[in-house]
Amino acid sequence: MEEGEKTGSIHPITTFIDQAHTIFREIGFSVADGPQLESEFNNFDALNVPADHPARDIQDTFWVKNPKDGKDLLRTQTSGVQIRYMMNNKPPFRIISPGLVYRQEATDATHEAQFHQIEGLVVEEGANLANLRGTLEYFLKKIFNDDNLITRFRPGYFPFVEPGVEIDISCSFCKSDSCRVCKGTGWIEILGAGMVHPNVFRAVGVDSEKWKGFAFGLSPERILMLKHGIHDIRLFHSGDMRFISQF
Ligand SMILES: [Zn+2]
Repeated sequence: MEEGEKTGSIHPITTFIDQAHTIFREIGFSVADGPQLESEFNNFDALNVPADHPARDIQDTFWVKNPKDGKDLLRTQTSGVQIRYMMNNKPPFRIISPGLVYRQEATDATHEAQFHQIEGLVVEEGANLANLRGTLEYFLKKIFNDDNLITRFRPGYFPFVEPGVEIDISCSFCKSDSCRVCKGTGWIEILGAGMVHPNVFRAVGVDSEKWKGFAFGLSPERILMLKHGIHDIRLFHSGDMRFISQF
């Protein structure tokens, strides 16, 4: 190596997604991919978010003109991958879909116009909330390297699931006592999930009487910020070598 040259390192988000692949593969998931430029149907309509539904305003969208109906968009979630997968494959299946998503919002230390998601979808006969809990606890224990981690479910609203849940984990940093990360509560809000809404199955032609499903979505950036005490999400895409070379 020439003097002055520096070796690079793998970006922490790439490392995280690789780890997530490994953990989910251990329990029977495969990885599905899809385009970042998505149709309105795959990103919203098929996910039980009709055009006049207020839920559509939760996600400020970058619209992109297309020659046909002018209605493409930069995906606001990776759920479109699940829609594509369900339209082209017969259940049962377990998939995760990692990738970049885009929201048109002001950036600050905790918000960026682009960030990553890893979404998961299981469609099987008899899939239920207990399976969802077992799956996510398996993943979260491994990714936080904490065998004693427990989850807490709270009701949450996401249009594509019913019931929907927000999932907290016991704080690995203070062992549920009190610290800055959990703001003294002993719990950390970590991801959203729920049972697939029958309207979603209807949109993609899956028989919701026969098949049950659960879905979840998490943010690599959020989990990495928690794990490493990173205070500004913008550092991930800053290209700042002083930040990246720490990993
Ligand atoms: Zn804590």
